[in-house]
Amino acid sequence: MPRKIAYGANAASEFQYPENSLVITTTTPDIYEKWLNYMGIKKYEIYDKVTPDPAIETIEEIKRKYEGKQISAYIGLGGGSSMDVCKYLGKLTGIPKILIPTTFGTGAEMTTYAVVSFDHKKKLLQDEAFLADAAIVDPYFLPGTPFNIMRNSACDALAQASEGYDSKLGNPFTKLFCKEAFDILENAIINDKHDLLPYGAMLSGIGFGNSSTTLGHALSYVFSNEGVPHGYSLSSCTTVAHKFNKSVYYERFKKTCQKLKFEQLTLKQSLDEAADVIMPDRGHLDNNPIEVTKQDIVNCLDEIVNKNPLQ
Ligand SMILES: [Zn+2]
Repeated sequence: MPRKIAYGANAASEFQYPENSLVITTTTPDIYEKWLNYMGIKKYEIYDKVTPDPAIETIEEIKRKYEGKQISAYIGLGGGSSMDVCKYLGKLTGIPKILIPTTFGTGAEMTTYAVVSFDHKKKLLQDEAFLADAAIVDPYFLPGTPFNIMRNSACDALAQASEGYDSKLGNPFTKLFCKEAFDILENAIINDKHDLLPYGAMLSGIGFGNSSTTLGHALSYVFSNEGVPHGYSLSSCTTVAHKFNKSVYYERFKKTCQKLKFEQLTLKQSLDEAADVIMPDRGHLDNNPIEVTKQDIVNCLDEIVNKNPLQ
């Protein structure tokens, strides 16, 4: 877990930011100027050209651009991409990083994972050096999040919590966080209490970040590679994976996804080709509670694209 965790209303405005920080964000000046004003941050540099699924070239460009400028800390302010860039930069330079999520889904501010693109292919990396020095979770940033982003993020957090609970790497500590995260996220979604989502996502990050996600995430990447947002693809993929694993979360996960009105997924490549892409993903499959064969994967994909599992 990050050394410092600040959570709750005003957490981001009360935090003492070091001078000469480099703020890294995916948003536009009209939005982030309001945020920075709220945070009360002074004497900073800003880099606002991060795009979704950041490429390693972008990260290296930022490193070169600010070399010799005595940057005291990176502040990742925004969605997952801003935080991923900070994590990787921090690993390259050793400069501390402060992560502030504004869309609340992945719990990325709590984990040692980062997604970076190499040659236009997204790669999920894990490194202890990616861990934030401080994580700040403040519901101030939530209003104004578009429904689609909120829904995809919420589904990702829900999938991470429940897959993390079932993971072979789980233990009583991670299960405690995953279970609590799931209860909070489910309540937030089913009862439209969206201000609880940031807290649920944060706990999910601690839980799955110290165990792992499993079959649902493994299945989802072939859909993401065809352009479906990560959280969206998990609605069907994790539902089918939970059914396969006989997870205690199967019914509850499905019901919560139904509430968010996700629709059926389609796949351009054949199920057999897709299964060949998924099988080498040992990081997810080896931690699945039940052993998974290629035929199992084909069957799961068939259920996802031909039998609408969310019905
Ligand atoms: Zn995820």
